[in-house]
Amino acid sequence: MSTTTQQHATQDAAGDIPFIDAMSDTEGATQDRNLFEQTYGEPPAGVWAAPGRVNLIGEHTDYNAGLCLPIALPHRTYIALKPREDTLVRVVSDISPDKVASADLNGLGAGGVNGWAAYPVGVAWALRKAGFSQINGFDAAFASCVPLGSGLSSSAAMTCSTALALDDVYGLGFGTSDAGRITLINAAITAENDMAGASTGGLDQNASMRCTPGHALLLDCRPGLSALESVSQQAFDLDRYGLELLVVDTCAPHQLNDGQYAQRRAACERAASQLGVENLRVIADQVNNADNPDAALADVLDTLDGEVTQRRVRHVITEIGRVRQFVDAFAAGDIKRAGELFNASHDSLRDDYEVTVPELDIAVDTARANGAYGARMTGGGFGGSVIALTDKGRSREVAQKIADAFAARGFHQPRALAALASASAHRVA
Ligand code: ADP
Ligand code: MG
Repeated sequence: MSTTTQQHATQDAAGDIPFIDAMSDTEGATQDRNLFEQTYGEPPAGVWAAPGRVNLIGEHTDYNAGLCLPIALPHRTYIALKPREDTLVRVVSDISPDKVASADLNGLGAGGVNGWAAYPVGVAWALRKAGFSQINGFDAAFASCVPLGSGLSSSAAMTCSTALALDDVYGLGFGTSDAGRITLINAAITAENDMAGASTGGLDQNASMRCTPGHALLLDCRPGLSALESVSQQAFDLDRYGLELLVVDTCAPHQLNDGQYAQRRAACERAASQLGVENLRVIADQVNNADNPDAALADVLDTLDGEVTQRRVRHVITEIGRVRQFVDAFAAGDIKRAGELFNASHDSLRDDYEVTVPELDIAVDTARANGAYGARMTGGGFGGSVIALTDKGRSREVAQKIADAFAARGFHQPRALAALASASAHRVA
């Protein structure tokens, strides 16, 4: 096992863009079990996995009670876990297999764990805080092929795999139904928000826990909806239309930690309160359902102070509208329209929401110039990944064009993944 990176990249020749292959569940379970045994000197109680995700459209909408449309990636984070009799948690990751981090759940408070261990420890802490006092300590080992910090939700893959493993070994019984999984999702969100200090709106954890193979998850983030009301599975069969979905991780240095995400959230909350509504979704529905949505949007924006706020709100409202339009276009086989919606989403994120960086814009422009139906950034932005919808057999060529464009500009070498709508979190061994 590599000690420098957990990625499973294949590089054909110098200059070729590497593709990150997904591990099979058998490979993932074997590697992870080995790491567990090597670290703790005994076998785990089992191995579980949770996927990263790619959001097709609906960006920065989850914390506005909006709509989004993720698929689960075949790239997963594996957790081998064994419960302990005491409250100690020990965790190791194949990113640095010689370093075991530990924390005691007893007396632990919000933000009480530093480093990546905050994610898995935070899940156990959140479940205990939610009243599941039977959750004790555990030993765990992680093996993953989800790129870290690339906007593909390695953090949710880690928290959701942990939540599912704990649910299973402590017999909570939430993991076996979609409705039950909401409890585990909430623990994963709490772990990210309150233990790791990473603000998250719920898209990632719902995707990792609720997606199904061959489908995109149409997720409605309005508070108070039942499990049944909050999602619908939308067929996302790329083969049927002779398509491929390319993901390119720009490997641009991530800048989310400078408070930009929090600033965007705060701007949306301020705008909602100026408009006298609980969240921007209320306004989005009014505008998008109006007889003349453009005029209705203009009227709303007129009542807001400040040109920047107006652009932020315009992104959220139009983006929520685009999610439904994309679902309809894809279902009707109108791939040209689906591609246009990808493009409109990216342009809105670039110009109105201002969360792109040059690497994201160049990758998108290059994909479009090389025959993609459409391309957009995916994830929170400020670095991370882009997606492009191409004809089957063309995505490698498009990926290489992006790598060439990056090389010409002196950007980091990007890397690529082939995305297929895959399964949510499950037990693998
Ligand atoms: P993303 O979720 O888009 O990959 P985040 O910044 O939300 O990006 O989460 C990345 C962080 O999650 C990493 O910096 C690390 O702390 C933690 N993490 C995720 N997966 C792993 C892993 N396999 N091993 C160790 N830490 C991980
Ligand atoms: Mg994350």
